[in-house]
Amino acid sequence: MTKKIVIANQKGGVGKTTTAINLSASVAAAEFKTLLIDIDPQANSTSGIGIDKPEKSVYEVLIGLEKAESCILSSYMPFLDILPSTINLVGAEVEIVNLEGREYLLKNALESIDNKYDFIFIDCPPSLGLLTLNALTYADSVLIPVQCEYFALEGLGQLLNTINIVKRNSNPTLSIEGVLLTMFDVRLRLSHQVVSEVKKYFGDKVFETVIHRNIRISEAPSYGKPVILYDASSTGAQNYISLASELIKKNNLEPRGVKN
Ligand code: ADP
Ligand code: MG
Repeated sequence: MTKKIVIANQKGGVGKTTTAINLSASVAAAEFKTLLIDIDPQANSTSGIGIDKPEKSVYEVLIGLEKAESCILSSYMPFLDILPSTINLVGAEVEIVNLEGREYLLKNALESIDNKYDFIFIDCPPSLGLLTLNALTYADSVLIPVQCEYFALEGLGQLLNTINIVKRNSNPTLSIEGVLLTMFDVRLRLSHQVVSEVKKYFGDKVFETVIHRNIRISEAPSYGKPVILYDASSTGAQNYISLASELIKKNNLEPRGVKN
Protein backbone atom coordinates (compact mmCIF):
# COMPACT_ATOMS: atom_id res chain seq x y z
CA MET A 1 0.00 0.00 0.00
CA THR A 2 1.15 3.47 -0.86
CA LYS A 3 0.53 6.33 1.56
CA LYS A 4 -0.08 9.53 -0.39
CA ILE A 5 0.39 12.72 1.58
CA VAL A 6 -0.24 16.18 0.19
CA ILE A 7 1.57 19.10 1.78
CA ALA A 8 -0.78 22.03 1.59
CA ASN A 9 -1.38 25.53 2.92
CA GLN A 10 -2.46 28.34 0.65
CA LYS A 11 -0.14 30.72 2.46
CA GLY A 12 3.27 31.09 0.84
CA GLY A 13 6.49 30.82 2.79
CA VAL A 14 5.22 28.52 5.55
CA GLY A 15 7.60 25.64 4.81
CA LYS A 16 5.65 23.46 2.36
CA THR A 17 8.50 22.99 -0.10
CA THR A 18 11.12 22.67 2.63
CA THR A 19 9.02 19.97 4.29
CA ALA A 20 8.30 18.21 0.98
CA ILE A 21 12.01 17.94 0.16
CA ASN A 22 13.30 17.11 3.60
CA LEU A 23 10.56 14.77 4.75
CA SER A 24 10.76 12.86 1.43
CA ALA A 25 14.53 12.57 1.77
CA SER A 26 14.34 11.50 5.42
CA VAL A 27 11.70 8.84 4.73
CA ALA A 28 13.79 7.64 1.76
CA ALA A 29 16.88 7.55 3.97
CA ALA A 30 14.94 5.17 6.23
CA GLU A 31 14.67 2.92 3.14
CA PHE A 32 11.03 3.48 2.29
CA LYS A 33 10.52 3.78 -1.45
CA THR A 34 9.45 7.40 -1.87
CA LEU A 35 8.17 9.62 -4.67
CA LEU A 36 8.14 13.39 -4.41
CA ILE A 37 5.64 15.05 -6.76
CA ASP A 38 6.20 18.75 -7.36
CA ILE A 39 2.93 20.30 -8.47
CA ASP A 40 3.96 23.92 -7.90
CA PRO A 41 4.85 25.84 -11.10
CA GLN A 42 7.64 27.55 -9.13
CA ALA A 43 9.35 24.14 -9.15
CA ASN A 44 11.29 24.78 -5.94
CA SER A 45 11.07 21.15 -4.81
CA THR A 46 12.46 20.11 -8.18
CA SER A 47 15.47 22.41 -8.03
CA GLY A 48 15.90 21.79 -4.30
CA ILE A 49 16.44 18.11 -4.99
CA GLY A 50 19.07 18.97 -7.60
CA ILE A 51 17.06 18.76 -10.83
CA ASP A 52 17.40 21.65 -13.22
CA LYS A 53 14.89 22.23 -16.04
CA PRO A 54 13.61 18.70 -16.62
CA GLU A 55 12.55 17.87 -20.17
CA LYS A 56 9.22 16.41 -19.09
CA SER A 57 7.22 17.15 -15.98
CA VAL A 58 4.03 16.61 -14.05
CA TYR A 59 2.44 19.05 -16.51
CA GLU A 60 2.58 16.55 -19.40
CA VAL A 61 1.26 13.84 -17.07
CA LEU A 62 -1.63 15.99 -15.87
CA ILE A 63 -2.83 16.91 -19.34
CA GLY A 64 -2.40 13.34 -20.61
CA LEU A 65 0.52 13.88 -23.00
CA GLU A 66 2.89 11.53 -21.20
CA LYS A 67 2.71 8.52 -18.91
CA ALA A 68 3.86 9.13 -15.35
CA GLU A 69 6.56 6.45 -15.69
CA SER A 70 8.29 8.34 -18.48
CA CYS A 71 8.46 11.59 -16.50
CA ILE A 72 9.59 10.25 -13.11
CA LEU A 73 13.30 10.77 -12.49
CA SER A 74 15.55 9.07 -9.98
CA SER A 75 17.43 11.23 -7.53
CA TYR A 76 20.90 10.64 -6.12
CA MET A 77 19.19 8.92 -3.18
CA PRO A 78 18.46 5.27 -3.96
CA PHE A 79 14.99 5.25 -2.40
CA LEU A 80 13.87 8.66 -3.68
CA ASP A 81 12.29 9.46 -7.08
CA ILE A 82 10.79 12.73 -8.25
CA LEU A 83 8.04 13.70 -10.63
CA PRO A 84 9.32 17.20 -11.37
CA SER A 85 7.58 20.46 -12.15
CA THR A 86 8.39 23.14 -14.69
CA ILE A 87 7.15 26.64 -15.28
CA ASN A 88 4.84 25.17 -18.02
CA LEU A 89 2.54 24.23 -15.18
CA VAL A 90 1.62 27.90 -14.78
CA GLY A 91 -0.92 27.61 -17.59
CA ALA A 92 -2.29 24.24 -16.54
CA GLU A 93 -5.08 25.54 -14.29
CA VAL A 94 -6.50 27.60 -17.14
CA GLU A 95 -6.06 24.77 -19.64
CA ILE A 96 -7.90 22.22 -17.55
CA VAL A 97 -10.64 24.41 -16.12
CA ASN A 98 -13.23 23.35 -18.69
CA LEU A 99 -12.34 19.66 -18.77
CA GLU A 100 -14.79 17.16 -17.39
CA GLY A 101 -13.53 15.63 -14.15
CA ARG A 102 -10.90 18.35 -13.97
CA GLU A 103 -10.04 17.63 -10.32
CA TYR A 104 -9.48 13.91 -11.03
CA LEU A 105 -6.77 14.37 -13.67
CA LEU A 106 -3.82 13.69 -11.37
CA LYS A 107 -5.52 10.74 -9.68
CA ASN A 108 -6.37 9.12 -13.02
CA ALA A 109 -2.96 9.83 -14.53
CA LEU A 110 -1.14 8.25 -11.59
CA GLU A 111 -3.18 5.06 -11.43
CA SER A 112 -0.40 3.28 -13.31
CA ILE A 113 2.09 3.85 -10.46
CA ASP A 114 -0.28 2.59 -7.76
CA ASN A 115 1.60 0.62 -5.12
CA LYS A 116 5.05 1.22 -6.61
CA TYR A 117 6.01 3.38 -3.63
CA ASP A 118 5.67 3.25 0.15
CA PHE A 119 5.18 7.01 0.39
CA ILE A 120 4.23 9.71 -2.09
CA PHE A 121 4.54 13.35 -1.03
CA ILE A 122 3.05 16.18 -3.08
CA ASP A 123 4.30 19.76 -2.81
CA CYS A 124 1.50 22.24 -3.60
CA PRO A 125 1.45 25.81 -4.85
CA PRO A 126 0.39 28.55 -2.41
CA SER A 127 -3.25 28.58 -3.49
CA LEU A 128 -6.39 26.50 -3.27
CA GLY A 129 -6.77 26.35 -7.06
CA LEU A 130 -7.18 23.37 -9.36
CA LEU A 131 -3.63 22.06 -8.91
CA THR A 132 -4.11 21.82 -5.15
CA LEU A 133 -7.61 20.35 -5.68
CA ASN A 134 -6.10 17.67 -7.92
CA ALA A 135 -3.57 16.84 -5.21
CA LEU A 136 -6.27 16.71 -2.51
CA THR A 137 -8.44 14.45 -4.67
CA TYR A 138 -5.52 12.06 -5.23
CA ALA A 139 -4.10 11.92 -1.70
CA ASP A 140 -4.92 9.88 1.39
CA SER A 141 -4.13 12.68 3.79
CA VAL A 142 -3.00 16.28 4.20
CA LEU A 143 0.02 17.54 6.11
CA ILE A 144 -0.41 21.21 6.99
CA PRO A 145 2.75 23.19 7.76
CA VAL A 146 2.11 26.18 10.01
CA GLN A 147 4.79 28.79 10.50
CA CYS A 148 5.46 29.96 14.07
CA GLU A 149 4.71 33.58 13.17
CA TYR A 150 2.08 36.26 13.65
CA PHE A 151 -1.32 35.25 12.20
CA ALA A 152 -0.24 31.59 12.10
CA LEU A 153 -3.83 30.36 12.24
CA GLU A 154 -5.12 32.88 9.74
CA GLY A 155 -6.40 31.21 6.58
CA LEU A 156 -6.47 27.73 8.10
CA GLY A 157 -10.27 27.87 8.35
CA GLN A 158 -10.38 28.32 4.59
CA LEU A 159 -8.03 25.37 4.08
CA LEU A 160 -10.10 23.12 6.38
CA ASN A 161 -13.21 24.22 4.56
CA THR A 162 -11.65 23.25 1.21
CA ILE A 163 -10.64 19.88 2.66
CA ASN A 164 -14.27 19.33 3.72
CA ILE A 165 -15.56 20.26 0.28
CA VAL A 166 -13.11 17.79 -1.31
CA LYS A 167 -14.30 15.12 1.15
CA ARG A 168 -17.90 15.73 0.14
CA ASN A 169 -17.22 15.82 -3.58
CA SER A 170 -14.21 13.94 -4.83
CA ASN A 171 -12.36 12.18 -2.01
CA PRO A 172 -14.51 10.99 0.92
CA THR A 173 -11.65 9.27 2.75
CA LEU A 174 -9.25 12.24 2.77
CA SER A 175 -7.92 12.78 6.30
CA ILE A 176 -5.62 15.16 8.11
CA GLU A 177 -2.22 13.54 8.61
CA GLY A 178 -1.11 16.27 10.95
CA VAL A 179 -0.25 19.89 11.52
CA LEU A 180 3.46 20.66 11.49
CA LEU A 181 4.89 23.65 13.31
CA THR A 182 7.75 25.16 11.30
CA MET A 183 10.43 27.83 11.76
CA PHE A 184 10.19 27.63 15.54
CA ASP A 185 12.59 30.01 17.28
CA VAL A 186 13.24 28.88 20.84
CA ARG A 187 14.28 32.42 21.88
CA LEU A 188 11.05 34.05 20.78
CA ARG A 189 8.08 34.19 23.09
CA LEU A 190 5.90 34.47 19.99
CA SER A 191 7.05 31.03 18.79
CA HIS A 192 5.99 29.45 22.08
CA GLN A 193 2.66 31.28 21.95
CA VAL A 194 1.97 30.01 18.44
CA VAL A 195 2.76 26.43 19.49
CA SER A 196 0.25 26.55 22.33
CA GLU A 197 -2.37 28.31 20.22
CA VAL A 198 -2.08 25.74 17.41
CA LYS A 199 -2.16 22.86 19.93
CA LYS A 200 -5.27 24.33 21.53
CA TYR A 201 -6.96 24.44 18.15
CA PHE A 202 -5.76 21.17 16.60
CA GLY A 203 -5.07 19.03 19.70
CA ASP A 204 -3.40 15.70 18.97
CA LYS A 205 -3.39 16.43 15.24
CA VAL A 206 -0.22 18.46 15.86
CA PHE A 207 3.01 16.54 15.22
CA GLU A 208 5.19 16.19 18.32
CA THR A 209 8.18 17.10 16.19
CA VAL A 210 8.59 20.84 15.75
CA ILE A 211 10.85 22.14 12.96
CA HIS A 212 13.19 24.80 14.30
CA ARG A 213 14.34 27.78 12.35
CA ASN A 214 17.76 26.66 11.15
CA ILE A 215 20.12 28.32 8.71
CA ARG A 216 21.27 24.97 7.27
CA ILE A 217 17.71 24.25 6.13
CA SER A 218 17.60 27.47 4.13
CA GLU A 219 21.09 26.99 2.68
CA ALA A 220 20.64 23.40 1.49
CA PRO A 221 18.38 24.06 -1.57
CA SER A 222 21.00 26.22 -3.26
CA TYR A 223 23.24 23.13 -3.27
CA GLY A 224 20.35 21.04 -4.66
CA LYS A 225 20.38 18.91 -1.53
CA PRO A 226 18.07 17.99 1.32
CA VAL A 227 19.45 19.12 4.66
CA ILE A 228 20.23 15.53 5.76
CA LEU A 229 22.83 15.37 2.96
CA TYR A 230 24.00 18.97 3.27
CA ASP A 231 24.64 18.90 7.02
CA ALA A 232 23.45 15.73 8.73
CA SER A 233 24.37 16.96 12.19
CA SER A 234 22.39 20.20 11.98
CA THR A 235 19.28 20.78 14.07
CA GLY A 236 17.29 21.02 10.85
CA ALA A 237 18.41 17.58 9.68
CA GLN A 238 17.67 16.07 13.09
CA ASN A 239 14.20 17.66 13.13
CA TYR A 240 13.25 16.20 9.75
CA ILE A 241 14.65 12.77 10.65
CA SER A 242 12.54 12.87 13.79
CA LEU A 243 9.46 13.93 11.78
CA ALA A 244 10.04 11.01 9.40
CA SER A 245 10.22 8.56 12.33
CA GLU A 246 7.06 10.01 13.83
CA LEU A 247 5.24 9.67 10.49
CA ILE A 248 6.47 6.10 9.95
CA LYS A 249 5.34 5.11 13.44
CA LYS A 250 1.99 6.88 13.06
CA ASN A 251 1.38 4.83 9.92
CA ASN A 252 2.11 1.60 11.80
CA LEU A 253 5.20 0.81 9.77
CA GLU A 254 8.37 -0.71 11.16
CA PRO A 255 11.53 1.40 10.92
CA ARG A 256 13.97 0.14 8.27
CA GLY A 257 17.58 0.79 7.34
CA VAL A 258 20.20 2.61 9.35
CA LYS A 259 18.77 5.40 11.46
CA ASN A 260 20.08 7.75 14.07
P1 ADP B 1 6.48 27.43 0.96
O1 ADP B 1 6.80 26.27 0.08
O2 ADP B 1 5.37 27.16 1.92
O3 ADP B 1 6.27 28.69 0.19
P2 ADP B 1 9.27 27.28 1.75
O4 ADP B 1 9.47 25.88 2.19
O5 ADP B 1 9.73 27.62 0.37
O6 ADP B 1 7.74 27.70 1.90
O7 ADP B 1 9.97 28.21 2.82
C1 ADP B 1 10.01 29.63 2.68
C2 ADP B 1 11.40 30.15 3.00
O8 ADP B 1 11.72 29.87 4.35
C3 ADP B 1 12.49 29.49 2.18
O9 ADP B 1 13.45 30.45 1.86
C4 ADP B 1 13.06 28.43 3.10
O10 ADP B 1 14.43 28.17 2.83
C5 ADP B 1 12.89 29.08 4.45
N1 ADP B 1 12.67 28.07 5.50
C6 ADP B 1 11.70 27.14 5.54
N2 ADP B 1 11.79 26.40 6.67
C7 ADP B 1 12.86 26.88 7.36
C8 ADP B 1 13.48 26.55 8.61
N3 ADP B 1 13.01 25.58 9.40
N4 ADP B 1 14.56 27.27 8.99
C9 ADP B 1 15.03 28.27 8.22
N5 ADP B 1 14.50 28.64 7.04
C10 ADP B 1 13.42 27.95 6.61
MG1 MG C 1 6.72 26.12 -2.03
